Amino acid sequence: MEPTSLPAPRGRGAGAQALDGHERARLGARAAEAGRRLAGEGIVAVALTWVDVSGITRTKTVPVERLEHAAAWGVGMSPVFDVFLLDDSIVSGRHIGGPSGDLRLHPDLDRLVPLAALPGWAHAPALRYAQDGSIHPLDTRALLRREAGRLAERGWAVKAAFEIEWAVSDGGGDEFSPACEGPAYGMTRVTELAGYLRDLLEALRTTGVTVVQLHPEYAPGQYEVSVAAEDPVGAADTAVLVRETIRAVTMRHGMAASFSPKVEADSVGNGAHVHLSLWRDGTANAAANGAVNAMAGGPGPFGMTAAGEAFAAGILRRLPALLAVGAPSVASYLRLIPSHWSGAYACWGLENREAALRFVTGADGERATAANLEVKCLDGAANPYLLLAALLAAGRDGLGADLRLPEPVDVDPAGLAEEERAARGIAPLPSSLAESVAAFEADAVLREALGEAVTDTVAAVRRGEIALLDGATPQQVAAATRWRH
Ligand code: GLU
Ligand code: MG
Repeated sequence: MEPTSLPAPRGRGAGAQALDGHERARLGARAAEAGRRLAGEGIVAVALTWVDVSGITRTKTVPVERLEHAAAWGVGMSPVFDVFLLDDSIVSGRHIGGPSGDLRLHPDLDRLVPLAALPGWAHAPALRYAQDGSIHPLDTRALLRREAGRLAERGWAVKAAFEIEWAVSDGGGDEFSPACEGPAYGMTRVTELAGYLRDLLEALRTTGVTVVQLHPEYAPGQYEVSVAAEDPVGAADTAVLVRETIRAVTMRHGMAASFSPKVEADSVGNGAHVHLSLWRDGTANAAANGAVNAMAGGPGPFGMTAAGEAFAAGILRRLPALLAVGAPSVASYLRLIPSHWSGAYACWGLENREAALRFVTGADGERATAANLEVKCLDGAANPYLLLAALLAAGRDGLGADLRLPEPVDVDPAGLAEEERAARGIAPLPSSLAESVAAFEADAVLREALGEAVTDTVAAVRRGEIALLDGATPQQVAAATRWRH
C-alpha cells in the first residue's frame, strides 16, 4: 500500500508529520518526561486507542515505562484491523487485508490523560505511521486533521461536538434489561442511579472533559451526555474518551452500557448527533480569538451567513453518501426511521428534531457563540474521525460551490403526504446500509477527500457486515450489535 503524503498538521501540535530521527528523539524525550510524571501519579499503563472502520475502539497498551519508546518508535500493529467487522471477523479489501504488514501506533502526547474511570491507566489516541515514518493512509485521525487543514487554508475553522446517548442494562447476560424504571426525561431516573451518574460526571471532569449537560433520554434505561465543542480532532478524541469513561463507570457499578444504534429492535435508538459551527479566521479556540461564527449574524435563513448556509447545504446534499460513514452498521437502519427523532428525512429546519439537519440558534443574546448545525441522522457505530472528515469535506464542497439551502421544514415530514414531500424536495434518507454504500461509492467529493484506500476499505467493511447479517431479523441484528461499540 502506498503511503499518502499528508500536509503538516495545523493547530494540534506535533506528531503528524513524517517521523525523522530528530522528531523521534524529540517525541521520546517529551514522553519520558510525561511518563515520569504519570508514574508519580500512580499510572501503571497507557492505552493507545484507534477507532477501526467498523466503529470499534481498539487498543494496544504499554507499561508507563515504555511510553518513551512508544512515542519515538511506535507499537506494532497489523493493518488488518482496518478490515475487521463488528463481530471480529475479517474481510479483505482491495487495498488492505491479509496477515502480513505492520504499522506503528504512536501516542499523541498532546492528548495523553490519566483515565479517572480506570485507576492506574492513562489514555492517548494513537497516530498511525508506516514503518518508514510516513502517515498510514488508513489513519482516519490524520485524515480528519488534513480535512480541518484544508478548511483552515481557506480561512475557516470548525468547532464540533458529539452528543452521546447510551442505554444502561443491569443484566449480566446478552439481553438488555433497563437498569432504571423511571419515565423518559424523568427525575426518577436520575434519583434511581444518582450515585452512578455522579461518579460519571466526576470521572469525566477529572479526565478533562467539559460536560455541558447530562439527562435521562427517551428509551428505557437511556441517558445522554453533551460536551463542549472543540476543534474537530479534539471533538473526536473526546467522543472516544467519553464513551470509554461511561463504559468503565457503568461496569464498576455492576451494569453494562450499550452505545448501539438500536439496543432493542422495537425501541428508540441511540443517536450520536454531531454539532458543527463554522468560524472565520479562527483557530480551534475560535471564540477566544475574536473569530466570527458563520452560523449567526448573517442575512441568510435564521441569521446564517452565506458561508454558514453554504456549509450546511453542502452537508445536506450528500447525506445519503455520508450515512455510509455516519450510520455505518446494519442496525443503524433500524434506528433511522421516521418519527423517532433520528432525522430520517433529508431536509433541514429550525429546531426541528425530525429533520436530518436541525439548525440551533441558541437563545437571543448568545447566538454569536451558540448557533450551530446539528446533524441528527448519525449514530455511535460511526468512527468519529472518519465521520467528521467526511462532514468537513461535504461542508467544504458546499462552501466552494456557494450553495443555498432549500426552504426549511418545520413539521415532521412523515406527517406530510408523499406528493407534498416530493413537491418540497424532502427525500427519505436511505433505508438500508446497502443504499448508503451505493451513494457513498458514487460520491466523487467524498472519494477525493478520503482517498481510494479509505473509500474502498469502508465499502468492503460495510459489504462484509451486510453479508454477515443477511437474512437476520431485527431482533437478531439488535442482539449482534448491542454490546460491540
Ligand atoms: N435517541 C434519538 C436518536 O436516535 C435522539 C433523541 C434526541 O433528539 O436527542 O437519535
Ligand atoms: Mg438525545
